[in-house]
Amino acid sequence: MNVMEIFKSMEYGPAPEAAAPGLTWIQEHAPFGLFINNQWVKPDSGQYMESINPATGRPLAQIASANSADVDAAVAAARAAFETWSRTLGHVRARYMYAIARHIQKHSRLLAVLESLDNGKPIRETRDIDIPLVARHFYYHAGWAQLMASELPGYEPVGVVGQIIPWNFPLLMLAWKIAPALAMGNTVVLKPARYTSLTALKFAEILQEIGLPPGVVNIVTGEASQVGEALVRHPDVNKIAFTGSTDVGRSIRRATAGSGKKLSLELGGKSPFIVFDDADLDSVVEGVVDAIWFNQGQVCCAGSRLLVQENIAGRLIEKLRVRMEHLRIGDPLDKAVDIGAIVSPGQLKEIQRLVNQGVEEGAVMWQPSWACPTEGYFFPPTLFTNVSPATTIAQVEIFGPVLVSMTFRTPNEAVELANNTRYGLAASVWSENINLALDVAPKLKAGSVWINCPNLFDASSGFGGYRESGFGREGGKEGLYEYVRPKWESSTPATADDFHIVQDSTLPDSSRSSVHEKEVGETSHEEDVEPGSTNGFRPVFPSIDRTPKMFIGGKQVRPDSGYSRDVYDPGGHVVGQVGEGNRKDIRNAVEASHAASGWAVGTTHNRAQILFYIAENLAAREEEFARCIVQQTGRSYSDAVSEVEASISRLFSYAAWTDKFEGVVHRPPLRGAVLAMPEPIGVTAIACPEAYPLLGFISLVAPAIAMGNTVVVIPSQTSPLSATDFYQVLETSDLPGGVVNIVTGDRDTLSQVLADHDDVDAMWYFGPAEGCKRVELASSGNMKRTWVNYGHPRNWSDPVQGEGEEFLHESTQVKNIWIPYGE
Ligand code: NAD
Ligand code: MN
Repeated sequence: MNVMEIFKSMEYGPAPEAAAPGLTWIQEHAPFGLFINNQWVKPDSGQYMESINPATGRPLAQIASANSADVDAAVAAARAAFETWSRTLGHVRARYMYAIARHIQKHSRLLAVLESLDNGKPIRETRDIDIPLVARHFYYHAGWAQLMASELPGYEPVGVVGQIIPWNFPLLMLAWKIAPALAMGNTVVLKPARYTSLTALKFAEILQEIGLPPGVVNIVTGEASQVGEALVRHPDVNKIAFTGSTDVGRSIRRATAGSGKKLSLELGGKSPFIVFDDADLDSVVEGVVDAIWFNQGQVCCAGSRLLVQENIAGRLIEKLRVRMEHLRIGDPLDKAVDIGAIVSPGQLKEIQRLVNQGVEEGAVMWQPSWACPTEGYFFPPTLFTNVSPATTIAQVEIFGPVLVSMTFRTPNEAVELANNTRYGLAASVWSENINLALDVAPKLKAGSVWINCPNLFDASSGFGGYRESGFGREGGKEGLYEYVRPKWESSTPATADDFHIVQDSTLPDSSRSSVHEKEVGETSHEEDVEPGSTNGFRPVFPSIDRTPKMFIGGKQVRPDSGYSRDVYDPGGHVVGQVGEGNRKDIRNAVEASHAASGWAVGTTHNRAQILFYIAENLAAREEEFARCIVQQTGRSYSDAVSEVEASISRLFSYAAWTDKFEGVVHRPPLRGAVLAMPEPIGVTAIACPEAYPLLGFISLVAPAIAMGNTVVVIPSQTSPLSATDFYQVLETSDLPGGVVNIVTGDRDTLSQVLADHDDVDAMWYFGPAEGCKRVELASSGNMKRTWVNYGHPRNWSDPVQGEGEEFLHESTQVKNIWIPYGE
């Protein structure tokens, strides 16, 4: 071909990156062993599995196939290493991590080639995106290792972490898992995905090179049914961090329920890509290419649903087709290739199956005129129009290069359509009108929102889902909390059980006097016996019959069952009755809670004012509330006063936090900024602890509503009267109806209904271990976030345990809004 001919056709010539360095490295190392305690060991089974090159369908390497005995050995190595690594100075951990980052850069080309060979993704992406992001992740987290002591005081590492990753970004997902774990002083057993272990094994070699202490990171390759399940069920693993499909995530939630293992899940998505009619359509077209054809669409946050304003839909689709016609598919190692191979024959089949289904469902399919390579596993970029929102292809994650498009008329319709999914991982908004874009972004239920850009990632900016896309964040400071726990937890014996405190009718003496000294001071309420109260268990005066109702949607309501339950004092005398709540009451409360969602979008100033006002109104009735506590628990009057005063102080704390827990602005390496905004989770169900009938209730309800959630609360089962009295305080404090709903009755029956409920977004449960397990199990239905205490007691009167950051984190999920700037 001469120059003139090239000019005419404007065809690219081949520009292949050499495979040889990768293939040589593989040859020198195959068959690959397991990386345990910094040694390469043979798998216990003696078995190996094949990794293939998806661009050719031919075998690349033999990889060890581990079994549970290997997992045991790796966990034991990680446990032994944890003893030292967890106590290694942050600065020293930072040095190791810095060395890892440097070595990733030194081996960057080999890593890029290996990743393309093993996964089938274009070298352009592995070279320019995957590997640089991996290095950046280790640099960034080296910094957090250095700063942990000063920036996360009161937190300690979780222990041995089991990490399970998918095949779509093999080394990047490894980095997202290992970097924060090591920075926070944990040790790791990581299982790569079956099809893509090679870069993880090269990474292990890097760890040897830099001399990371043995056992800190162990890499165990193998099948999900062997390695994955053994890790999930291992009794000596303290946390599971998983990225993969929602179905597997759900099964892991169930398998770990009640085990006390900390869990973070990064799951699937069906992310909307919203185009308003004033968007720059040429940029939009390039944006769509990067949203859905990046990595062959095998991206959890792929912009797989194109939502276009109706009046420009025809024009945009036309432009897209022209662009699709020019996309280049082929050898992943060719630097001029846009689309590489699908990772496996199974995945290819699944994509084809869903595309066929789309056609059957009546959508219009379009593919470019050119043909895919016949060798290897390729699928052409595919566009569906005439898609109706309820069909399979509009709802199910296809995980391939398939875009479905729908239209909308108004911004509200766009938001509705965008949120019409069980997922909530990411969203992209395109408009030249910054006011519109910034108005829409917070309304989208998604962990990342990209304005006029697609698929941007950076270590500084947390990534993770809402709803069935999972919970937990990777990256940013928020990601660190997935790998730490409050220090006080390990110093409190797990045997004491605050659920017996009420039955025993006394608080432990120490905590009682400490509350008293701290919260009351010397002058007030020293006398222990007050008129109308009791220091024995019999009221001095016969009590007035109290039959408070439940509180739903801002109204006092009778229980649907028509039954009441008796409330006793510790001496066994009836001191009142509360409604026996049932399924119907819970349903109404959840509905009311949803109807009050405007609470989340009100100003933080307004919410803070209301919390202060609630505190003020509680203070005005301090003695009455103290007497109610005495009556139900038989504790001393001064002790009860301390509880009321601690509750008032706690309300003040959260009134204070309401307009101060605001998030941050990240500066990732791009022209632009990322707003990391803590958002409420939504409808939060709360089962209160038995002890501290008032303080336990306030300690949980206050942070939840301060952050904008609406709540359905089951008060202390044995001492519910403090909570039911409290609705009178709420009624006089300008709190909108439905923000706090109170349903009394049997805690575990009601909790079960709430945990099963698909419209409850989060559930907190402070009760016996058995109940915690049931809540975690049931939560897997809609993957609601849970916070439970595994029967572990908490001293609610101690501000270290009873209030603060931990509560604010549990009340929020971070949304990262990416705003690039410049022309
Ligand atoms: P997958 O769920 O099949 O597998 C993920 C990992 O889990 C693999 O290592 C697999 O071996 C292991 N695994 C499978 N079953 C297991 C079990 N029962 N117990 C323990 N481990 C088990 O997912 P995949 O096909 O490898 O990856 C694609 C999915 O991952 C997509 O749904 C995608 O959206 C999701 N993903 C999510 C993110 C995110 O950050 N949210 C990132 C990448 C991929
Ligand atoms: Mn492979």
